[in-house]
Amino acid sequence: MENINRSIQCTVEQCRHHCKNYDYCSLNTVQIGTHENNPSMEQCTDCLSFSAKN
Ligand code: SF4
Repeated sequence: MENINRSIQCTVEQCRHHCKNYDYCSLNTVQIGTHENNPSMEQCTDCLSFSAKN
């Protein structure tokens, strides 16, 4: 059973670090960043620890 980090909620099921039946991340920590010069809303931020399945 992979580690479920209940401090990091996540619904990105396409990520290899997602806990499948549970909407949590399995990593101990994640890196958050932005692709914008001046982020102004949640859509401007990204999980930089994302890794696509397969
Ligand atoms: S690495 Fe980021 S996108 Fe992937 S499961 Fe963890 S929080 Fe979600």
